[in-house]
Amino acid sequence: MSFYDRITKWYSLNYRELPWRTTQDPYKIWLSEVILQQTRVEQGRPYYQRFIETYPDVKDLAQAPEVEVLRLWQGLGYYNRGRNLHATAKQITEQFGGHFPDNREQLLTLKGIGPYTSAAIASFSFKEAVVVVDGNVYRLLSRYLGIHEDIKAPNSYKIFEKHALNLLGQRPSAPFNQAMMELGGQVCKPKQPDCSNCPLSIDCYAFHSGKTVELPIKSKKQPSKQVEINYLIVRSENQILMRQRPSNGIWAKLFDFPEIEALEPMLSSFDGERSLVLEGKRLIIQKRPEKFKHLLSHRTLSILVYQLYLATKESQTAFTHLGNFYHLDQVDSLPKPQIIHRILEDLIE
Ligand code: SF4
Repeated sequence: MSFYDRITKWYSLNYRELPWRTTQDPYKIWLSEVILQQTRVEQGRPYYQRFIETYPDVKDLAQAPEVEVLRLWQGLGYYNRGRNLHATAKQITEQFGGHFPDNREQLLTLKGIGPYTSAAIASFSFKEAVVVVDGNVYRLLSRYLGIHEDIKAPNSYKIFEKHALNLLGQRPSAPFNQAMMELGGQVCKPKQPDCSNCPLSIDCYAFHSGKTVELPIKSKKQPSKQVEINYLIVRSENQILMRQRPSNGIWAKLFDFPEIEALEPMLSSFDGERSLVLEGKRLIIQKRPEKFKHLLSHRTLSILVYQLYLATKESQTAFTHLGNFYHLDQVDSLPKPQIIHRILEDLIE
């Protein structure tokens, strides 16, 4: 039996029912692919459902305020993907009248749509003869064919794409791509691949040469950079001071707290503690800060959170150059990095 027949037969018997697999709507396929990049299916699924319910088509997404889209995205990380999602929806609405281009070449002209996502939409929605190479496919092909190229190298996509196209031949691409991704995800897993239940084991290079641990070759990640942040939560009745971050850099346009360094000009030392005088009263900043740790893809954040309670609402004016005071209910609807959400949940009743 050919490679194509073996994997598509396996897929027809073993596929998981997922909402984006039963549609050919390019909007839904695009949404699922963007959400599932770097996110596990179980984690991404509720996000997909929420986006589809809130924005049933691409025009609804394009018209939504960015802050609302980012709030819905909250928890998925990689916030640029959320911003690009919104920007692409606007581009499709403005340049293509709300219709996705029906070929890969034009799809690639859209912001935030790269080789992988364009191939997925072109194959699953428009049946174009293209192959989809995601992390599962890299692993499967590397092991099955014995490809020793570094999958993180810049030219690896082209190399693996060529191998996949050879295996596809002239047959329909959609079942092939679905099967490749599913077999890679379910059977040819990163650790302990289930070779005894794999339809490819009969002629798999890695299985027969005992190299399933060695392949795929993946260059080592850069060591994570340590970053220290000292936040100050300023509370006033049921309100909290939040700042919106600048439109570039980490967590662009999301909301967090002012960093204590920004308050240094207002602070003084009193009996060894940090304090500031407001309206003739000395306010002591909470002595022992709360500690948080948070891992990002290339950074480890060590965060200290200090808290300050203002006795009167009038004192708020001393802080308005650092951000705005929001009622707790409003804070909930602001788009925030996941760690800020966690700090608020832990510290604010
Ligand atoms: S036989 Fe094992 S290593 Fe080879 S493709 Fe199947 S699961 Fe992967």
